[in-house]
Amino acid sequence: MFDTIISGGLIIDGTGAPGFVADVGIVGDRIIAVGDLSAATAADKIDVTGLTLAPGFIDIHTHSDFTLLVDGRADSQICQGVTTEVIGQCGYSCAPRNLGAGGNQLIGYIDAGVDINWQTFGGYLRKLEEARPAVNVAAFVGHGAIHRAIKGDDTSTSTYEEIEAMVQLAEAAFDDGAMGFSTGLEYFPGNIAPLEEMAALTAVAAKRGGLYATHVRNRDVYYDLGFTEAVATARHAGARLQISHIQPKFGAPVHAMEHSLELIYRAEREGVDVGFDIIPHDWSHTSMSAALPPWARAGGTAKTIERLKDPFLRDLMKKNPQPIWRLVPAGKWDDIILLRAVVNHSLIGQTFAEIGRQRGVDPYDAYFDILIEEGEHLPQALWTSHSFNDADICMCMHESKCIVMSDTLAVSKRGPLKGTIGSLSGYGWTARLLGHFVRERGIITLVEAICRITLRPAERLGLVDRGRVRAGAFADIVVFDAENVRDQTTVLTPQVHPTGFLHVMVNGRFAVRDGLRNDEQSGRVLRHSG
Ligand SMILES: [Zn+2]
Repeated sequence: MFDTIISGGLIIDGTGAPGFVADVGIVGDRIIAVGDLSAATAADKIDVTGLTLAPGFIDIHTHSDFTLLVDGRADSQICQGVTTEVIGQCGYSCAPRNLGAGGNQLIGYIDAGVDINWQTFGGYLRKLEEARPAVNVAAFVGHGAIHRAIKGDDTSTSTYEEIEAMVQLAEAAFDDGAMGFSTGLEYFPGNIAPLEEMAALTAVAAKRGGLYATHVRNRDVYYDLGFTEAVATARHAGARLQISHIQPKFGAPVHAMEHSLELIYRAEREGVDVGFDIIPHDWSHTSMSAALPPWARAGGTAKTIERLKDPFLRDLMKKNPQPIWRLVPAGKWDDIILLRAVVNHSLIGQTFAEIGRQRGVDPYDAYFDILIEEGEHLPQALWTSHSFNDADICMCMHESKCIVMSDTLAVSKRGPLKGTIGSLSGYGWTARLLGHFVRERGIITLVEAICRITLRPAERLGLVDRGRVRAGAFADIVVFDAENVRDQTTVLTPQVHPTGFLHVMVNGRFAVRDGLRNDEQSGRVLRHSG
């Protein structure tokens, strides 16, 4: 006697093995049997003949740390089959925090009345549990949060004592259940942290068996310095490395992707455990303020705005030798689009070339003006552009260890996150992988694509009972129509759910049934057990 039997689906179990038709029997939150269950009884039977049944998708890189507190429904992810998210990436996490040490840097922050009353990583995870996320959540602790908890907005080089204090915070975060440690070396404060600091904190991840995920220092002209730094840091610390969103950016030499893969395989031959992931999009997005030089950001948002108002300092900022996007000094303003803004919400979807024309100013100044106008919302402003190369993405996807992920925020079109956009991949990244890259272009097979968003990330994270369909595993399941999975989003309509997803189950409970999202929020906070 089962609680639920899902019968007749083509099961692609996540391992990379060919699909097979079978029934799946579920009791409580677990899959109990996979096979011919035609003679068995169940309280709930659902026939999915002709559809594909896979493990719920695992998104190994998101920034939903704050949005899940605001609204745990995570419709944007649930409705495309994502049942587990990994937050705390690129050095950003919501904890630890030191209320006395400086401003907030909560990525995805929106002013929605969340009581920001935690300090420790454990306190944050408990808060997350109270929000009852619809997806399972594995949380990494971010270098930026640790660094700022000790030094706030202070841009001086960390002392030995400060680094020691950071190590204590990292240890405490792992005690509380952090699944890994992340850095964002292209963002403040990652971009000013000394090697000794990174080495000491990565060593904590290594000791605790957590993954070290890094947004490397550079992915354009100095891409090779960025990747070799990541490898050297992990090798020295003995940590397992995950290179985040590996695709090179506009401005990198044409051989950068191929060379980066060579660097990785070379490191592997020397015994470094290296994994990597990509966003299945040639669109890239980032925080607008990340294009400012570090000195312009020192001291927090109010100080930044003061400097942006000073014409002399503006000119200095325009000479920033290391902007986050080479598109900026190259003047490619017709390919840079406003993606998220509060005060300038009506300009979303427009290029900075257009915005500059309308305002009668240089697009660079339009960019500075918008940052000023956003005021306290400045850190949340995002822009997007075609800064990734499709050929690089395809080359990477051919590598069997390449995981695919979103780099986005879990949001919902209902409730307090209505109108919030994480990125252009937010609502349709899995559909883009399975529709565009698998079905329409044949870049990889369906079986392989599923493996890259199920078992492969589960293995990197050390999740033994998720990411595959087998007896004993948690009942995280997605059922979709492989012929009709389609990403529906565009720059102007980034909040459209994809077609083709029929049923999504999280820990044995349907969150989507017959294509309809219900109010189920049955995700769990997953803690590192090592
Ligand atoms: Zn990143």
